[in-house]
Amino acid sequence: MKKYYRDSVLAKKLIVGTVLCSSIITLLLTSFHLYTQYARDIDQLSQSEQIIRNSLLNSLSESVWDYDNKLIQLQLEGVLSQPYIEQTYLELKDGQTFRSGALEHDWTKTYVFPIVHEQKGKRRELGTLTVTADLHNIYQQLINSAALTLLFNAIKTFGVVIFMLFLIERLIGRHLLRIVSSLDKIDPEQSPASIELGRPAKHLPDDMDKLAEAINAMQQRIHDAHHARLIASQEKAELQERIINQNQQLAQLDRVFTMGEMATSLAHELNQPLASITGFADICKRLVSQDQINHEMVEKTLEKVSSEAIRASEIIRRTREFVRDRTPQRGAHHISPLVHESIAMLQDMANKNQVIINYQPQEKSAQIEVDKVQIEQVLINLIRNAIEALSPQANGCINISQEIEENMVLLHIADNGPGLADKVMQNLFKPFISTKESGMGVGLSICHSIIEAHGGQITVINQPNQGACFTIQLPTCHNEEISF
Ligand code: ADP
Repeated sequence: MKKYYRDSVLAKKLIVGTVLCSSIITLLLTSFHLYTQYARDIDQLSQSEQIIRNSLLNSLSESVWDYDNKLIQLQLEGVLSQPYIEQTYLELKDGQTFRSGALEHDWTKTYVFPIVHEQKGKRRELGTLTVTADLHNIYQQLINSAALTLLFNAIKTFGVVIFMLFLIERLIGRHLLRIVSSLDKIDPEQSPASIELGRPAKHLPDDMDKLAEAINAMQQRIHDAHHARLIASQEKAELQERIINQNQQLAQLDRVFTMGEMATSLAHELNQPLASITGFADICKRLVSQDQINHEMVEKTLEKVSSEAIRASEIIRRTREFVRDRTPQRGAHHISPLVHESIAMLQDMANKNQVIINYQPQEKSAQIEVDKVQIEQVLINLIRNAIEALSPQANGCINISQEIEENMVLLHIADNGPGLADKVMQNLFKPFISTKESGMGVGLSICHSIIEAHGGQITVINQPNQGACFTIQLPTCHNEEISF
């Protein structure tokens, strides 16, 4: 309880507020009370003045006219019986003076009355009467009254403040402390523990009960919302994972489909080293069947067999790597080897369609953190599309160029074909849009999702009279300078 009063700003504010308010009211009421008391005293004093003026002055002027000094003295003492009048002083024209009473204090008010005698319509001024009232008593009473009122009010305010503090601690303070300590312990992960105010079962419910009830309901709502959010984010993560898996499966399908389309070219490409191997093997056979075996020639021919076999196995490795179902693996790569490898896989197809592929890697290159096979899949899709777009025409040409802008590698794949059809342009990178008879229409959409998953961008423009130009942007991971 002591701690509550020490720490509670509310209690302190209440004390200051009550004391201030009570002091202002007390001061106003006391001032009003003192004013009415003062007005009453001053009124009494002016009544004394009226009595002196209206009745005592006449009889005094008669006594002065008759030179009755004894009566004058008696009458002056009679004036002193009026409230607050403490001294009288009569000064006659002939120089005679009379005095009664004495002043003990400084706070005085003086009235001067002329002593006039009237006879047969003639007015004669006989002297002046000076009456002095002592105001000390009036002020003293006011001071005492003010001091008493202020003292009583201070005691009353003190009592009220103590009682109010007691009430506040009992009715509000201790419950607030309980609520605050309960709220401090709230953990959205846990089921909410409801706040108990620990009141007797039969008490009449008040605002604190309502507050505790509202906080308990709010806690429950927060917990439910948190729970719902958790479930939603789990579901979202699961959905995202499913989408990623489906995208991977689709990309894998697209690779197999692409390879299916390129199978003839591949077979042709493989046929070349195999034919060479057969040819060189025949030469070897002939060389070893001669009487004089030319070992040097045999060795050179066998080397050629071996290099053609390596070429064939490289084609098979590249193809297997490309169509293999695999989880994406990112690593730091330079863009140029990826472009070279993609061109190599399509070179035979380009030759058959009499399309020239130009690629001059820049001297400056930067590394990109990518899945090699996925980026090759994008490049193969774009180059293959360009070859297919160029296939019916002569002088088909694909220009591949690259540049580095800030933290991005930009790769442009431009052809001099007919450009993209309006239908494709309007639904850019949406799946199942194709102008080809046997096309699935998923290539560009897969390219888009692969590049986006790598934090990059793919865009396309139809260059006037020049064909389509695709641009891939990928963030760099190192800014080292490497020459090729
Ligand atoms: P598909 O090749 O199976 O049709 P894609 O998504 O790879 O699917 O391509 C969609 C369409 O975009 C193609 O049918 C073609 O009409 C158009 N396209 C793609 N690349 C080019 C290009 N370089 N020149 C002209 N049209 C293109």
